[in-house]
Amino acid sequence: MTQNLASTVPSQVRAVSGRPAEASTRMEVWQGLSAAVVDAIANDWHATDERYRAGRMEHYFSAEFLMGRALLNNLTNLGLVDEAQKAVGAFGHNLSDVLEQEPDAALGNGGLGRLAACFLDSCATLDLPVNGYGILYRYGLFKQLFDDGFQTEHPDAWMEEGYPFVIRREEAQRIVRYQDLTVRAVPHDMPITGYGTRNVNTLRLWKAEPMEEFDYEAFNSQRFTDAIVERERTADISRVLYPNDTTYEGKVLRVRQQYFFCSASLQEIIDTYIAHHGEDLRGFSTYNAIQLNDTHPVLAIPELMRLLMDEHDLGWEEAWAEVVTTFAYTNHTVLAEALETWEVSIFERLFPRVLEIVYEIDRRFRQDMRERGLDEDTIAYMAPVQDGVVRMAWIACYAAYSINGVAAIHTEIIKRDTLKEWYALWPERFNNKTNGVTPRRWLRQCNPRLSAVLDDVVGNDSWVRDLSVLSRFTDGVGDEVLDRLAEVKRANKADFAAWVLEREGVEIDPEAVFDVQIKRLHEYKRQLLNALYILDLYFRMKEDPSLEVPKRVFVFGAKAAPGYVRAKAIIKLINTIAELVNNDPVVSRTLKVVFIHNYNVSPAEHIIPAADVSEQISMAGKEASGTSNMKFMMNGALTLGTLDGANVEILDQVGEDNAYIFGATEDELPVLRETYDPRQAYENVPGLKRVLDALIDGTLDDRGTGGFADIRRSLLEASYESADVYYVLGDFAAYREAKDRMAADYADQRAWQRKVWVNITGSGRFSSDRTISDYAHEVWKIEPESV
Ligand SMILES: *Cc1c(COP(=O)(O)O)cnc(C)c1O
Repeated sequence: MTQNLASTVPSQVRAVSGRPAEASTRMEVWQGLSAAVVDAIANDWHATDERYRAGRMEHYFSAEFLMGRALLNNLTNLGLVDEAQKAVGAFGHNLSDVLEQEPDAALGNGGLGRLAACFLDSCATLDLPVNGYGILYRYGLFKQLFDDGFQTEHPDAWMEEGYPFVIRREEAQRIVRYQDLTVRAVPHDMPITGYGTRNVNTLRLWKAEPMEEFDYEAFNSQRFTDAIVERERTADISRVLYPNDTTYEGKVLRVRQQYFFCSASLQEIIDTYIAHHGEDLRGFSTYNAIQLNDTHPVLAIPELMRLLMDEHDLGWEEAWAEVVTTFAYTNHTVLAEALETWEVSIFERLFPRVLEIVYEIDRRFRQDMRERGLDEDTIAYMAPVQDGVVRMAWIACYAAYSINGVAAIHTEIIKRDTLKEWYALWPERFNNKTNGVTPRRWLRQCNPRLSAVLDDVVGNDSWVRDLSVLSRFTDGVGDEVLDRLAEVKRANKADFAAWVLEREGVEIDPEAVFDVQIKRLHEYKRQLLNALYILDLYFRMKEDPSLEVPKRVFVFGAKAAPGYVRAKAIIKLINTIAELVNNDPVVSRTLKVVFIHNYNVSPAEHIIPAADVSEQISMAGKEASGTSNMKFMMNGALTLGTLDGANVEILDQVGEDNAYIFGATEDELPVLRETYDPRQAYENVPGLKRVLDALIDGTLDDRGTGGFADIRRSLLEASYESADVYYVLGDFAAYREAKDRMAADYADQRAWQRKVWVNITGSGRFSSDRTISDYAHEVWKIEPESV
């Protein structure tokens, strides 16, 4: 870096605000400082891009990138935090206030999108030639507010005030054609800096724009609506993440989106290939690999066939040979019914040629399977097209050279159940890549106090690029380190308490155990189990005022899908329990319940460093991996969880004494289910009847929506699904025992901090650097390219 921020920031701020830096608003300072950072990395960014394009590259296709904020992340990676503080301080601003101006780039739902973002960070830090490709959604995931405890959804116009970390590349636009519409795909690039490297990778997000910005002809001849209709139809493509797909038109839009970014990205990758290696595309997969993050980008498979055959003169066999050596597929769910399928008629309407190619893939697949001697039922089950629907996951399994799950137990389940037919044919394609999270954002940046302790213990900051070095220090640290851990947590909790008071208006005591469950609201994640525990504890305390209960704060953060009625009722239930508990003059001295509204990446950065307990309580076998469990572990929260997803590997790492594991296991559940009667739990498990009856006897008010009665019914009565599908009542007693024991253990702070230290220093395996170097060596076959 040649210039320093002290000289560039004031001029960038003035350019944004048209005023002296001293007279500019915080938002303008955020804009100017961000522009100065882009200025500082521009040369390295360009050099990295040129270098990567000349060699073999990995392209990460994902419908979601949950990036969060960029400025502090970039300052941290570039080692410019202190310099930035000084630069803005020189004209009267405070860096942390400036940073709080930044909107989150919430271009994703939850774990899957955040995984993609952590992966990009690791690829840049490891100097790996990897670019991300997705969609520049105008609106991120909805903004969540509570109205009388009910979730309401509001648009999140995250870029509307200007966003310096996205650079429009007008000159690199591509054209995407549908049967009924032709649009321009305009790339918008985000720089992805790494820690301690000059490499700057790229996330390319495509925006849909009309072929002609405005139809003057229609406007001048007074057809005002016609002039804007086409524009809006085009803008719909990159307007929102996952448009409502309960209607046919909604599904058409989703498929349109998926094709949009796949086609534009592939066109670019092919053009880059031709520029460096000539017109003969038969070497395509020598220079390119593409990772499909779930099934959303699977249309890339037939689209690459189309481009290679129709636009670059390859025959079917030649094109297919490239396709089956290019794509790798990551599965994120164990539920076969959750794998995407689309009506053939949608493909017919949008792109008949792609449909024709899909049918030909299907024909060849069936022929191949018959030759292998598979029976007709199995072939029909596995076929890419059957009963008028296209099955995206089956296309991926057939065409991909690698199929991976995202945690050891998850990969075993997809081999055994979800994808067993494919595993039987191609066991060598299957591999596990346990997820990870970036220690830059999720430790270095969000927890500076703990980072300082780690710097001191290790003697330098090498752990930021290689988290596994921490394991050398698990044993042999003295009590003074454990005491420092306790101090760090106390200070983080005090900061968090102030943040909660300002943001949610609830007062919490930093002396209490902070028990946290933050993740998307879904029945399988069982926020309901946590809520029932709190309600039961409330009743236990009311019944016996002499009961000794450790001080506790229960923290929730969760968005429910707008159409997921029961999940929204669970949010209302938790808010109603919070009101009951927090307003009780006696109980509220010991317990508090806080629901952080609009959970997102930047709230997570405030919450996780302050957590003592990490709730990972999904029904065993349902959570593919989980990644918040890893963020908590790095920040010294102990896991209270089931043997599910990556919890299994966390337990392997820390041992039974350093985690709180409870509940039915994945292999026990099928047997337990055979005789399971939730009514018996209701009658016999002490306290359960009282808690469940409180949902309908007037103790808790759902404002006449019937939501609470529905929750109770779902637990006790079979309907189109069996009663208590997620085994909430079955695991209740074991959960209560483990959670009570855990809270009691907190009193012995030395013993607790020892467990905390084992967790922090054992978290190396859960760095996304480890995950990415495994992908790079085993799947992508790429090497670091340092600029
Ligand atoms: C890490 C993260 C998630 C994933 O959480 P899980 O508990 O693994 O489901 C979801 N949302 C945000 C904002 C995250 O940072």
